Amino acid sequence: MTSAEVTWLDDDTAQIRQPKKSHWEAPFLFLLFGRDRALLLDTGATDDETIFPLRETIDQLIENWLRRHPARFTRPYELIVAHTHAHGDHIAGDQLLADRPGTVVLGTTPAEVIAFFGFQSWPDEVVEVHLGGRTVDAIGGPGHEPSAIVFYDRATRILFTGDTVCPGNLYVRDRGEFVRTIDRLIRFRDAQPKHIRSLLGAHIEMSKKKGVDYPPGTVHQPHEAPLALPPSILDEVRAALDEPGERVVRDRFIVANVG
Ligand SMILES: [Zn+2]
Repeated sequence: MTSAEVTWLDDDTAQIRQPKKSHWEAPFLFLLFGRDRALLLDTGATDDETIFPLRETIDQLIENWLRRHPARFTRPYELIVAHTHAHGDHIAGDQLLADRPGTVVLGTTPAEVIAFFGFQSWPDEVVEVHLGGRTVDAIGGPGHEPSAIVFYDRATRILFTGDTVCPGNLYVRDRGEFVRTIDRLIRFRDAQPKHIRSLLGAHIEMSKKKGVDYPPGTVHQPHEAPLALPPSILDEVRAALDEPGERVVRDRFIVANVG
């Protein structure tokens, strides 16, 4: 069994990477702890627990956090399982958590996502998700995929951008929606009272060499770029979207127009 690669971003925020050995997509998942509930973003690229033990990983992380913070949480403690978007490599583990006590696994259609978060005017509205003493903003993010959401955690000041913005290929499937989403994220960024610290997407496909990516299917990435991107990357993505061509290569990402 290959265990998950867990990094605590702070005391209440875990970054989980599905190991490359278990699936070349090696997506990143994030687990955010509040007083009343935790929020898991994405469930990975496989439901085979012998190669990626999702349920065990999440159970252990929650158990450990609860043990570390005996006075800081509400019982029974809930888990919301949401998604950055509905592509298979981000939702494959959903069924492994479906029967977990106190757990809500969100549906993956735009209608289900809109209804759960309570968007009145999708995708332009920003909706608050309350974890108990911790607020996360859900921002409509279609363009890569119709149900995509970008999450902003006010506590860590991290923007979780899924596949919409990551150090890799940004697959633009609906150009109009994608451009409007990047514009929306730029407006959101510029309206924050405190500067956004960084963007964390769901994959690393770029190498440390500027503009050079590892092709799809690569399992060994010894010189991969860091996951975190600066908030200014949004302006670079926006500018790249105005350039013609199927593949617009920048130092830290590639816009892949596939729509
Ligand atoms: Zn995707």
